[in-house]
Amino acid sequence: LAVPGVRQLQPYVPGKPIEEVARELGMAPESIVKLASNENPLGPSPKVLKAIANAQSDLTRYPDSNGFNLKSALCAHLNVAFDQITLGNGSNDVLDLLARAFVAPGSEVVFSQYAFIVYPIVTQAVGGKAVVVPAREWGHDLDAMAKVVNEKTAMVFLANPNNPTGTCFSRRELVKFLEQVPKRVIVVLDEAYFEYVGGEDYPNGLLLQQDFPNLVVCRTFSKAYGLAGLRVGYSVASPVITDLLNRVRQPFNVNSIALAAAEAALEDQAYLAKACQINHEGMMQITSAFNALGISYIPSKGNFITADFGENAGSINQQLLQRGVIVRPVANYGMAHHLRISIGLPEENEQFIEALKQTL
Ligand code: PMP
Repeated sequence: LAVPGVRQLQPYVPGKPIEEVARELGMAPESIVKLASNENPLGPSPKVLKAIANAQSDLTRYPDSNGFNLKSALCAHLNVAFDQITLGNGSNDVLDLLARAFVAPGSEVVFSQYAFIVYPIVTQAVGGKAVVVPAREWGHDLDAMAKVVNEKTAMVFLANPNNPTGTCFSRRELVKFLEQVPKRVIVVLDEAYFEYVGGEDYPNGLLLQQDFPNLVVCRTFSKAYGLAGLRVGYSVASPVITDLLNRVRQPFNVNSIALAAAEAALEDQAYLAKACQINHEGMMQITSAFNALGISYIPSKGNFITADFGENAGSINQQLLQRGVIVRPVANYGMAHHLRISIGLPEENEQFIEALKQTL
């Protein structure tokens, strides 16, 4: 029935919802801990809640399809121009727009083994051919990726950090890669976890766009800004690329509550700093426990950590679920021995660690 690329896809498997697990176990939802979808455990900033309450007066009108207020705020925050920004219903929506605007049937799209599962979805949905390059130490092998780019390549997806492995590449490695790729190839740099990462080595994609106008940077309000449920993401690209994305974008793709909430979230940089600090501490809490228990893990720069539980990963996942802890199997990424754990609040992390100790 469907086009061949779609038939070959597996459906996206989200983290199990708390209510579903609670019902299955006959437990109260409050006693379940969900560390499965790289969400921000802090909850939204109070400023966001206020903005949402105010936005409710206007629900009868269509949202501002151009996202004037949010885009203006992003321009000021990121020091980019208005005609460089495309808003999406989550950054997944922007990834989809990119494929629809730039990937013709039969053209190739390059990404890494263990890359984010939405890249094959958006590629194959438009009839593109996914070219998956073996990873190096769970991360992108940028040299190998540059080598497979050819005249059929329309697009490359890079994630920095990568989900589900948490790996990062450096500025030097990225620049070397971009220098090798022809400018007619769109390079999408997915920085969904940008706000969590510090350090001199970590490249801010926006600062490379002057030299590499084919570079598109995607970010989101779902992670460090804590708005996963509202679905707001964006890309920053050249005005030429942005104009083309805008032609395939559904009008009103970001709703009015989400627009108002994201604008307020951007203003609350103290909340962002707190979220990143809590993540940093939670990462140390969980990796210390892994070290003590002799569990090996892939060092991560994101708000999640992926650990190797060997052949028992599936049964450990089930036992954690029985103890009310939802983590994320990553077998659909070809990592059947691993589980991905999102970093929670200290007490949530502790509940996971306790459940894990009982399980092992
Ligand atoms: N890119 C990566 C690498 C991700 O991990 C995610 C979230 N799972 C996204 C993009 C999409 O996030 P959203 O659509 O919520 O903005």
